[in-house]
Order: sequence, then C-alpha cells, then structure tokens
Amino acid sequence: MRNRNKLGLIAIIFCCMPVIALAQQISLNDNTLGAVFFNIQRVYDVCMDMALELAKPENNVARDEINEQIKSVLRVSDFDVEDYLVMIKKLKKDKIFIPSGPMLFSIDAKYRPILQLKANTRPLLLYQTIMSALDDPPELKADVANEKLVEITLPTPQFKLKLSIEPESIFLVSDEKNLSAQDTGKWGDFKNNFADKNNLLDVQIDFDRVKQLLAEKNLAARHSVCLGNLRTLKNALEMYRLDNGSDLERFDIKILLEKHYLAAEPACPKGGNYSLSHSNKGEVYCTIHGSIENPKAQVEDANAHINPQLKPFKAFRLQLSTNSIEFKMQLSDKQTLEQWLAIARQQLLTVRHMAENQLGHLPEVQKKRILAIVNSIECQSKNEWLVVSAAGIDEKTMAMGIVGGLGGLANQAIPRFIQTRKNERMKACYSNRRMLSDVLEMYNLDNPEKKMNQLDLNALVDGGYIKEAPVCNEGGIYSLNEEDQVECSKHGL
Ligand SMILES: [Zn+2]
Ligand SMILES: [Zn+2]
Repeated sequence: MRNRNKLGLIAIIFCCMPVIALAQQISLNDNTLGAVFFNIQRVYDVCMDMALELAKPENNVARDEINEQIKSVLRVSDFDVEDYLVMIKKLKKDKIFIPSGPMLFSIDAKYRPILQLKANTRPLLLYQTIMSALDDPPELKADVANEKLVEITLPTPQFKLKLSIEPESIFLVSDEKNLSAQDTGKWGDFKNNFADKNNLLDVQIDFDRVKQLLAEKNLAARHSVCLGNLRTLKNALEMYRLDNGSDLERFDIKILLEKHYLAAEPACPKGGNYSLSHSNKGEVYCTIHGSIENPKAQVEDANAHINPQLKPFKAFRLQLSTNSIEFKMQLSDKQTLEQWLAIARQQLLTVRHMAENQLGHLPEVQKKRILAIVNSIECQSKNEWLVVSAAGIDEKTMAMGIVGGLGGLANQAIPRFIQTRKNERMKACYSNRRMLSDVLEMYNLDNPEKKMNQLDLNALVDGGYIKEAPVCNEGGIYSLNEEDQVECSKHGL
C-alpha cells in the first residue's frame, strides 16, 4: 500500500474511533425509550466561525442588525451581541469546553438518563463556571481535589446520577446497573447513522416501548387502588371487632356502611368482588387481585390497555443533516399509514400556497431560497415509515436552527426541572413528617409515663422505632409545635 493511502486509512480509523467507542458505551436496546445523537462538535465549529466572523470590526453593521432583531423578537431593551461574542471568545481561548466529538443521550425504561459527550474540558474550571451561573445551585458533593476529574452525585428520588467531567469527556450515568434487555435491532439504523459525518442531529423515540410502559403503570395503579380498598375494609372490620367485642357475623359491606365503619362502598377498579376467606384467618380478599398478604399476580397483558388510537404508532424520528431535514413516523398498519400520508400531502399543498402568498415583504434572494426549500418538501412512505423531508438548506442555517431549537427547549425545561425538584423535596419532607408523627404515636403509647414533649430523634432511633433519623433535604429541622404536631423549620406542618 502506498504511504499516502496508508495515512488516509489511519486518519479514517482515528476519526471513526470516538464514534465507535461512543456507540459501544451507550447501550441502546429494547429497553431504550428514546435517544438523541447531537454532532455538537460540528455545530459548535460552525457557530464559532460565525461568531468570530461577526466579531470582526468591519461587521459592526451586521451586529447592529442582529441586536435590533433580537431586541424586537425577545422584547428586551438592553441586548448586545457583543457581550456574547466576548464570552464565546473567552470560552475558546481558555479551552474550558471545546467539543471534540458527538454527544449521545438516551433514556431507559426506568427513566434514567445516560449522557456521553466527547469534549476537551478543564474539569474544575467548567464546574466552577456552571456553578457560578446557577441562581440556586443544587447541593452537590464534588470531588474537586483532583483537577483532572470532577465527579458530582445528583440525587433524584429513584436513583442517583453521577456526572463526571474528565479532560476528554463528560458522562452522566445512573449508579444502578443498566437494565439488561434483548436487542431486536430497533436502534440499528440509528446506530448506523453515527458514522455519517454530515449527521447533525438525530432523535428517535421508541413509541412502542413508551406505550407499553404507560400500560404497565396503568395496570399497577389499578392494583394499588384495590389494595387500598382491602386495607380500608380490614380497618373497618378491626374497628367493628373492637367496638362490638366480636367479629362481624357474616361479611357484609352494607352493615359496615350502615354502622359508619365505612364512609363509602369500596369498588375494585377491575370489577372484582370483596369477601372474607375462611381458610386464611379471615383475611379480606378481592376475587381478582387477591388479598393484602397474598396478592394475585396479574398475568394480564399490559398491551390490552393501550389506547387503540395510539396503537399503530411505533416510533418517531427526526434527522437533521448538514443540508436536509427528515421527519419519520413508523406505523404498524398499512391503512393508517396511507391515511396519514394523504393528510401530510394535503397539508403540504397548504404550506406551499401560504409560502407563496406570504413572503412578499422579503428580498427576492431570500424569497427564492425559502421557496426552494418549501418546494423540496416531499411526503412519501417507505416500508412502515411515513417520511417528510426537505432539502437544500445550508449548514449555517441548520446549525443556527438547532442551537435556537435546543436553546428554546432548555428555556422551557430548566425552570420546570427546578420546580419539579422543589416539589419533590417538599413531598419527601412531608412523608418524613408523616412517618415521624406515626412513630411518635407508637412511642407515646409504649411509654405513657414519659411522653415526648420535645422531639427526640435519638430516643426514637435508640428505641428501635426508626432505623435512622430522617433528614429534611432542604436542611430544615424537625420539632414539635404546641399542639404536638411534627413541624419542619423549612416546610412547616
Ligand atoms: Zn380488585
Ligand atoms: Zn423540610
């Protein structure tokens, strides 16, 4: 082989390496709900070139135009793109964060995110930059002693997430083991696309798996409603026995209702009947769900609970390359596919008509370009997929569109994420307080001569009432108020 060819081959292998390594690390399989491939390096390069070009003194007219546009769109009075250009230049000069490969993000059936990003970073500096930009920085424990690695554990209610920033990559993974799952190749085409260097953004959602998950949740929720009913019935019977000195002669919900041991008649969400088992110590049971002690496993097929209108949809995919956009929808039955194709084609005609009529105010060159894109839109069916695609868009426009779209998403998602976190903390603290008041009641019943007037968590732990003292996750202190109710100094009653 000639030397030049050899060199070329080596170069190709090197370029493909991060992509191949990435594809192996992240496991996309039948338990993956959705995944995003983002060619952040390429988009970053395009945007950086544009920013540096714009920062040149001779482009001040263009800068002023952008300032005016942004001010009118965002309705802000003080905006200067100059500030951002200074920041962008600094980011590049200080080498805090320079993407050196694609980003891959996925979510599994337990809603756990996995993120992998190839980038040249300075871990400590990046960590400090992010923290200083947050109004309400989460309480994180970071291993900042080592300048080469910053590890942050993000507590979430169901699992812990570990974010590690290394000089060459950023990872976000759950510390739990990955769900093992078979791989029937649903992600094959998505994975194959990693190696395409013109691939900018690729998003796929396994809607089949999402539907199944929702149906499973629905089933579990029905079961828990019935279990709640069984508990209510058990308590009612218990109260009856305490009041009357003997068990109810014959299990009869009407009697429990008449004598106000029950406020309302409990109904099994699946139409099961409640009665008492004679063999099993008089346990209440449901003919469908079993008893509290021995619940009947639901062999029912979760698929039976999927909304029939959603049934045909199998997957969604959005692919943006350097010059084309493709939106795809996978449908299981031919007839629905044909229907959707007809609808899409109809809509397309409307869009073309609108574009031709409403671009009058634009300069001729721009008008021509937009019309060319609109006219390139095609709707077609390929196997099970309905495909809507457009071509002829230039890379700069595409990159700006992606940045704008992701920025808009972040704008929506971040405040929501912060709110959810706050709500979760409040809920966790509330359940701590409920638990403490239950435990306190038990303690006081057991120790009538030394009832607790002041909350003594150590005494509760020492007495074996709780394993460990509960901690408010926003640093509140638990105490008893004048009415002996458990209170949190941060969250109140
Ligand atoms: Zn039931
Ligand atoms: Zn609290």
